[in-house]
Amino acid sequence: MSGFDFDLVVRGGTLATAAEVLEADIGIKDGVITALGRNLPRGAEEISAKGYIVTPGGIDPHTHIEEIGQDGSVAEESFSSGSAAALAGGTTSFICFLPQWKGHTLAASAPGYEARAKASRADYSFHQIITDPTPEVLEKEVPALVARGIRSLKVFLTYDPLRLDDAQLLQVLATAKKNGAFVTIHCENYDAIGWRIDALLKAGLTDPLMHAWSRPPVVEREATHRAIALAELVDQPVQIFHVSCEEAAAEIARARRRGVKVWGETCPQYLTHSHDDLQGPDFAGAKAVCSPALREKGENERVWARILDGTLDIVSSDHCGFSFATAKQAVGASPYGVGGAVSRPDGRPAFNAIPNGVPGIETRLPVLFSEGVSKGRIDLPTFVKLSSANAAKLFNLPGKGSLMPGADADLVLWNPDAERVIENVALHHAIDYTPWEGFAVKGWPEVTIRRGQVAMRHGEVIAEEGTGRFLARGPYALAKPRGVVPDGFDAALA
Ligand SMILES: [Zn+2]
Repeated sequence: MSGFDFDLVVRGGTLATAAEVLEADIGIKDGVITALGRNLPRGAEEISAKGYIVTPGGIDPHTHIEEIGQDGSVAEESFSSGSAAALAGGTTSFICFLPQWKGHTLAASAPGYEARAKASRADYSFHQIITDPTPEVLEKEVPALVARGIRSLKVFLTYDPLRLDDAQLLQVLATAKKNGAFVTIHCENYDAIGWRIDALLKAGLTDPLMHAWSRPPVVEREATHRAIALAELVDQPVQIFHVSCEEAAAEIARARRRGVKVWGETCPQYLTHSHDDLQGPDFAGAKAVCSPALREKGENERVWARILDGTLDIVSSDHCGFSFATAKQAVGASPYGVGGAVSRPDGRPAFNAIPNGVPGIETRLPVLFSEGVSKGRIDLPTFVKLSSANAAKLFNLPGKGSLMPGADADLVLWNPDAERVIENVALHHAIDYTPWEGFAVKGWPEVTIRRGQVAMRHGEVIAEEGTGRFLARGPYALAKPRGVVPDGFDAALA
């Protein structure tokens, strides 16, 4: 018995929530916020937050961590390193992906993955990828998955080993509807990309920039439109992942005006990077190969505009790290490819065989804070919505993304005046580069608290492996259909 009301008091900070900014102390007991107010009584421990902005811990709902390939290979970013990077960057919870390999059940595709995740230092949950929607998967495995608290499915409309055709997408949407699950979608037109790739390769164009030429905005816009239309037909709520351009965002905005339950996510790379980053000496452009591709420079501000109008209401990292020295320059290393492994005369992969993805779990929030709050594009409540509160709602993570009494005491102390230059050597992820190398930011997360424990202080990650918790997700209103189907005939439930 300590004799204190609180295990920890975070005193004198400027608190930023999704709704407001106010000066208050935070009292924490047993990992939970139990009081907010001025002059709270002393706690067993005290942290002075004077001069700091205190936000809820970040939630990164789109991360690729320690993924296991069908060949038994394991991604470089482990749960230990990935979660350390998360905490260092002010993120206390993340959602990553359970795989499915075509021709395999869900159970056979993820041997030991959930057990590996127990090494996490941050709290975590899963989206289940569906690549092969067989009756067994849809009728037996998905209901069992949802019952275990894995309440979101992820589908890809492109990539050779992952893509679904329209008939399969409809089946997955209908299954989600029957089971009260949410669906997230990678929207690009597979055949259009393949057609462009063939022509580019035939023309001898193989540089990393050609990755962007192979999948221009119209390819993303078409698939976004199609995915939304099919979700509307089924009456199944969906989120469009990693929206990179205005034209795809406009499809989301148009559907929302009709009342369709569709949400849109973007990522920092689409706010700061462009075709310029796909070029450069020594194959440096490979470092910026991700899908959808980076767009022309002017697109960054158009994506910001879609954040400001509320169309894109979550900024995730889509952290998907491949080291430059090893994976990004190796032919045949890509688990996310279209059109097979083709090598160039210099022995490096042609653009279509470069592994897709950029690391960003640690830099997501510093870049968003600096480009958003410090540069005056967004206010603090909007930052909180984009970085945690909206993800907590959309994916049903109760107790997260909030500073209300009763919420988990996941907090970040931001020094709004700290000026830093991002350097990979100072990051905690396992990847040998960051796309933000040399990028200047103002505002830095100096302390991260996860369920009442100091998890990171001044760049040093203190939380140990295995201290993160699995976040099971129950039924919730945002994932519920609207009850609007053509002609009043519900084909999903028939
Ligand atoms: Zn992704």
